[in-house]
Amino acid sequence: MREYSLIINGEKATGGAGRFDVLNPATEEVVAKCPQASVEQLDQAVAAAQACYESWQFSSHAERKQLLNDIADRIEANAAELAQIVVEEQGKPMFLAQMEVGGAVAWTRATAELEMPVEVLEDSENKRVEVHRKSLGVVGSITPWNWPLMIAVWHIMPAIRSGNTVVSKPSGLTPLNTLRLVEIINEVAPKGLVNIVTGESGIGSGITKHPGIRKIVFTGSTPTGQTIMRGAADNLKRLTLELGGNDAGIVLPDADPAAIAEGIFQTSFLNMGQTCAALKRLYVHDSIYDELCEKLADVAAQQTVGNGMEEGVTFGPIQNRDQFNLVSELVEDARANGARVLCGGEPLEGKGYFYPPTIVADITDGARLVDEEQFGPVLPVIRYTDVEDALKRANASDVGLGGSVWSSDPAKAAEIAGRLECGTAWINGHAELLPYAPFGGCKMSGFGVEFGQEGLMEYTSAQVININK
Ligand code: NAD
Repeated sequence: MREYSLIINGEKATGGAGRFDVLNPATEEVVAKCPQASVEQLDQAVAAAQACYESWQFSSHAERKQLLNDIADRIEANAAELAQIVVEEQGKPMFLAQMEVGGAVAWTRATAELEMPVEVLEDSENKRVEVHRKSLGVVGSITPWNWPLMIAVWHIMPAIRSGNTVVSKPSGLTPLNTLRLVEIINEVAPKGLVNIVTGESGIGSGITKHPGIRKIVFTGSTPTGQTIMRGAADNLKRLTLELGGNDAGIVLPDADPAAIAEGIFQTSFLNMGQTCAALKRLYVHDSIYDELCEKLADVAAQQTVGNGMEEGVTFGPIQNRDQFNLVSELVEDARANGARVLCGGEPLEGKGYFYPPTIVADITDGARLVDEEQFGPVLPVIRYTDVEDALKRANASDVGLGGSVWSSDPAKAAEIAGRLECGTAWINGHAELLPYAPFGGCKMSGFGVEFGQEGLMEYTSAQVININK
């Protein structure tokens, strides 16, 4: 069993508050013991990040770009190990874990290339007014368990690219990949630039309230985001909150079920449905409802469910027992209320949190499976007859992360997509994130964006230099 350490000021440390078990969701066996940081160690990590910030804030753009590219090289050199850790603690199949590591590299390199130009607002005979972007200080990064490595990279890279330093806290369910990532980063980064503390007992709320931290970037559930926002008020920390979603997809009557079924399936069940911007409620026009339901069930039946380490497996377990129970409960509730389960619908027997891809038809708004974020391998398919009504139902949710419209007429679909209340609307696609396109939610899916120039600016504040010549 591998040993994992906290990294504080470039040094490995054992957990001051002991260790806890990290389980493999495919076998329910212990993958490794994870160090549990103490509150004193959190203080030490913040102090190290503050000390490093004294010089890092003045580092040149060339130096930061070089560092990010060096980090990307190190991640690439350790790709096989990182992918294996992701499969073992997160559960996704190996090909998806490799995609996650590849994404981490690509995002790191794309972030390296971003610029922070000085904007000139006026340059006249007597006056010049410039806007500079200044870093903030120590950034606290708090991440979830679904795409743990990729999301850690999404937080850490723009923070350091823009001149900040970092204290990272991964989910206690999947901490090992991020511990290893930060260790790898520390092979090439200055001491204290990126620190990591793990553990569930008060470390997250300790970060939220810490007076030495200037900003929190958080990806996780809406209730936790609300708690963080309250806790961050004392020293007015800046926040980026990437929270839960319940993305709707609307299939127009002119769509071809045979052409779109695979795309809808893959974007609904990406990472066993445990993806923030996965398609989570599908509204299908009555005229093609039965045909599309059948095609979706056909794609589901082609999946091979099993341990992600095994060759040929396309569909892994749910990551943890609580989420597994929630998915089971939502499907049971739907069934009890008259919905039709077209495939799946029962957990697999034996060890591991295996739940096969499940398509639920004859269900509508008001059912828990439609109204709540399932965050797992089950898709409710809802019949509609009037597009305006479908749009209204799609927008009735109090969250708004993503949404999509599926049609053979992309221009008409784009017009409808523009009226979806969400941060990203896709046409004939869903859940596709790009390192150059701002990504974030509206309503209770949070605020602030990640990625690209706009994402980078979230780690800075504007300073105006007003020169009277
Ligand atoms: P979660 O909110 O339970 O946990 C996320 C992180 O917050 C973990 O590291 C956890 O330890 C920490 N945390 C828990 N309580 C805390 C507290 N009081 N103070 C500070 N930190 C605390 O979320 P999860 O179950 O890990 O992730 C699933 C949720 O995340 C889903 O709702 C999903 O939609 C959402 N998500 C959103 C995005 C996005 O970009 N919008 C991406 C991935 C996941």
